[in-house]
Amino acid sequence: MSLLELESINAYYGESHIIRDLSMNVEEGEICTLLGRNGAGKTTTLRCIAGATPPAVRAGHIRFKGNDITGTATEDVSVQGISLVPEERRIFPNLTVAENLHLAEVVNNRSNTFGRSMSFGHTGMSTEEVYAQFPRLDERKSQRAGTLSGGEQQMLAIARALKQNTDLMLLDEPYEGLAPKIIEDVENAVKRISDEGTTILLVEQNAAAAIKLADRAYVIDQGGIVFDGTADELRDDTETRERYLGV
Ligand code: ATP
Repeated sequence: MSLLELESINAYYGESHIIRDLSMNVEEGEICTLLGRNGAGKTTTLRCIAGATPPAVRAGHIRFKGNDITGTATEDVSVQGISLVPEERRIFPNLTVAENLHLAEVVNNRSNTFGRSMSFGHTGMSTEEVYAQFPRLDERKSQRAGTLSGGEQQMLAIARALKQNTDLMLLDEPYEGLAPKIIEDVENAVKRISDEGTTILLVEQNAAAAIKLADRAYVIDQGGIVFDGTADELRDDTETRERYLGV
C-alpha cells in the first residue's frame, strides 16, 4: 500500500474541468516530485489532496494510509498527518519568527483537541526540535518574519508545517523567487526533513532542481499525468522534458 494514492481523480473549479482522471502514488519515505508547465494543474492537485476548496473532486478517490480522504476538510486532513506549505507561504509578516511558530502550535493543539479524527491526533515537532533543524531561524527568532530573506521565509513556512504532525508534506513551489544559493539551503532543509522520516511531495516549476532532489517524478499536462518514472529516468528523457517542461 502506498502512503498516498490518487485514483482517477477529476476536479473542477465551478464547471471548469481541470484535473482529468489523474492517478498517482506517493510511497512512504520518498521525495516525489510533480512537475509541469504553468497552469498544468499542479497546485490544484495539491489542493485536492489537502482538502482545500475550491477545487471540488467530483470523481475518483484519494487515499492516505489506506483511508479514503476524498473531500475531507483541510483541518481533518491535517490532523491525519498531511501538511500543505502553499506557494504564497502564508506566514505572518508582522509577527516574529518565534510568534509564527507559536501560533502554528496553538492552531495544531486546537485541531487535535477539537478535530473529528482524534485517533490520528499526535503532535508535531517541539520548537526546540524545529530550531535544531533550522539554526538560521533560531538565530532570527526575535526578528519580524516580513523582514526575513525569501529563503528564510520559505524555511519558516516549512517549519510551521513541521509544528503539525506531519507524515506527508506537500510543498508548492518552494524555490519560487529564490536565488540559486538560497535554493540550495531550502533543498538541504527538505533533505533533512526527508531523512527524519517525513514523506515529501514537491511541486516545482524548477524541474532541474526538483529532479536533482527527488526519487521519483510525475509530469502533469492539462490536468493528466503524462510521465511516471524515477527521477533518473526523467533526467534522461529529453523528449518528455522538452515537450512538457520546456527544459
Ligand atoms: P502554476 O505553476 O502557474 O501555479 P499549476 O500547474 O499549479 O500552475 P493550477 O494553479 O493548478 O496550475 O491551475 C490549473 C488551471 O486551473 C489553470 O487553468 C488555472 O487558470 C485554473 N484555476 C486555478 N485556480 C482557479 C480558481 N480558483 N478558479 C478557477 N480556475 C482556476
